Amino acid sequence: MTSPPAHVLVADAVLPVDAPALAPGWVAIAEGRIADLGPGRPPRDRGPIVELPGQALIPAFVNAHVHLGASFLEGASSDLEFWPWLADAVQPRVAAWLRGEGRVEAEADAVRAAESLLEGGVGFAAESFLDVLGRDAMVRAGLPGIFFREFFGVSAGDLAEEAERAARRVESDLATLAGTSDIEYGLAPHALYTCPPSILEVLHRLAKKNDLLLTLHLEESPEEHDAFGSQRGPLHGWLVEKGADRFLLDRRPVQVLESLGLLDVPWVFVHGVQLEAVDLEILARAGASLVHCPSSNMRLAEGVAPVEAALEAGLVVGLGTDSLGSTGRLDLFQEMRLLLWSQRARARRVGGWTAGRALAMATLESARCLGEETTRGSLGVGKWADLTSVALELPLDRASAVDQVVWKGSPSAVRGVWLRGRRVVPRGSAS
Ligand SMILES: [Zn+2]
Repeated sequence: MTSPPAHVLVADAVLPVDAPALAPGWVAIAEGRIADLGPGRPPRDRGPIVELPGQALIPAFVNAHVHLGASFLEGASSDLEFWPWLADAVQPRVAAWLRGEGRVEAEADAVRAAESLLEGGVGFAAESFLDVLGRDAMVRAGLPGIFFREFFGVSAGDLAEEAERAARRVESDLATLAGTSDIEYGLAPHALYTCPPSILEVLHRLAKKNDLLLTLHLEESPEEHDAFGSQRGPLHGWLVEKGADRFLLDRRPVQVLESLGLLDVPWVFVHGVQLEAVDLEILARAGASLVHCPSSNMRLAEGVAPVEAALEAGLVVGLGTDSLGSTGRLDLFQEMRLLLWSQRARARRVGGWTAGRALAMATLESARCLGEETTRGSLGVGKWADLTSVALELPLDRASAVDQVVWKGSPSAVRGVWLRGRRVVPRGSAS
């Protein structure tokens, strides 16, 4: 795709995220990248000017965890806790989809969800699903990102054979998917309770060999926490019924990963709601990152993730929406507010939980989780010109731009999205 001609966006406020706000400010774009930015009016020689009155320009959001392919789960009961939700509401729908039911509708759901992310200001998404459904939807919507192929290993049958099948799947994905679009490729063993060590080891080996990122749902629910180590609760009973190895059940999830020697590669762990201090230290030493999905965690009554402790331990923490089946809406504005509300409430103080920090977590820190921080996530010279403009309702002498974006913002306040300097929202824009 060719880059649009050089031009300059001028807005009431420009929020670079890793530098102070410019109000008013401008961003000059050339060859798809940010060529320069500054306060006030732009110099005359930077190209045609696009005025964005009453708007703030921010880096396009990075959604560090979503399941676009599972958008057909929207409407799965919203009043169940994690394990009954997964076992009674999600699993039957996935089983029906695997049997081939509702395929066409599921494709349409995934495309609609990918488009809604883009229209809601997201410029890069980390998609996890067992099928290319969500990846194809991203290609159709024009949304760049990473497709993490998701693996499950409890479908019955021979575990060695399942591990072999997983390896063949990765090799075939690498041959057919890599380099065919703006979508990168990674591996997602779903969780420790659905992916036995034999599959984890194969995926770890292939990630290491091919320099791929790994992502995994970790310590999400109280049921998962109780099943491992302390060995109690419904998920533990289910694992015993499935004949799970004692090696797994005797250890906390992080201990399982450590004991298997799997923490020597960059992992993107998701949720971590139940993580204890000792585990955060192990993960920080391993250089792991954590994706926080507050709306999903709170809707499923899982608790509030120890984000402050994770940051203090040294983990990189970003934000994700999780799926429509667990959140009801893919909205990073909502995730930013829930992050601030829950962390302030958990600590019973404002502490460092400012609007600026929430915006950084939805952009630069999410990019850092995915190893994308040198090219995205902030408005810096040389980075891709991936930007989102958000309508400001109040004069800036009454409420700062960052406060308005975070506390009042919503997908419906997004007025424009530019990817590599090209305006993609609204659809069919001229600049
Ligand atoms: Zn998830």
